[in-house]
Amino acid sequence: MDANYHTHTYRCGHARGSDEQYVKAAIDAGFKILGFSDHAPYKGIHIPSDRMDMEHLEGYLSCLEALREKYRDQIDIKIGFEIEYFPFLVDHYKKLLERADYLIVGQHNPTFLDNDLDLYAGEAEIETYGDLIVQAIESGLVSIVAHPDYFMVGRRSWPANGDAVAHRIAEAAARCQVPLEINLNGLRYGTKMIDGQTAHLYPYRRFWEIVAQHPVTCIYGVDAHHPTTLMEKERVLTVNQILADLPLTIIENYRLP
Ligand SMILES: [Zn+2]
Ligand SMILES: [Zn+2]
Repeated sequence: MDANYHTHTYRCGHARGSDEQYVKAAIDAGFKILGFSDHAPYKGIHIPSDRMDMEHLEGYLSCLEALREKYRDQIDIKIGFEIEYFPFLVDHYKKLLERADYLIVGQHNPTFLDNDLDLYAGEAEIETYGDLIVQAIESGLVSIVAHPDYFMVGRRSWPANGDAVAHRIAEAAARCQVPLEINLNGLRYGTKMIDGQTAHLYPYRRFWEIVAQHPVTCIYGVDAHHPTTLMEKERVLTVNQILADLPLTIIENYRLP
């Protein structure tokens, strides 16, 4: 794995370290491409522990642009944002994209404010989650779907509509050629009892069994909220055990189009 497009900064309020520490850790870990994708700011909305503020935007861009220049001989820095997709914000996403290299969609809530999927995701919310991810993929604005099985974070059983939602996401990802991310940071929650068996919340095997039935590109994403997470390559081994023997197409050295 020589490319990671999922990296946060302190600006979102729940990640630690300086921007330069992430760059140095990525170089030490052997990455050739480091993509920053901090939680995007939303105008007029201040969510201190979750999202960058609008007033952080210029500093985010200028700081990363300076690091890109400083370390250009050692690593290729890409600048992006992680968004939740809501159709009424399409113009906002387009403006962000004018200033950045790419967007990833990490759908943490089925409604704009509140109602996090990590609290509990009922089937209606999971249906909405699937709808929004399919719309994000079809919008042409996002380059990667982060943790597409994120809804399992607020579940202790596979939902009745889980297969159908997974098929819809995988079908759209294959059709629009948007990679699905096997997220390496879900492991931090440890294992839980899910449907009577201990399992990590995500990646969740059942979801990826369905993905494997579609011609989808999969990539790993570190989802670093701490610089040294970039050096924890053993996370790849653990998720590979979870996904063992599934015929997934995992591109370790993925390049953005
Ligand atoms: Zn985060
Ligand atoms: Zn993230």
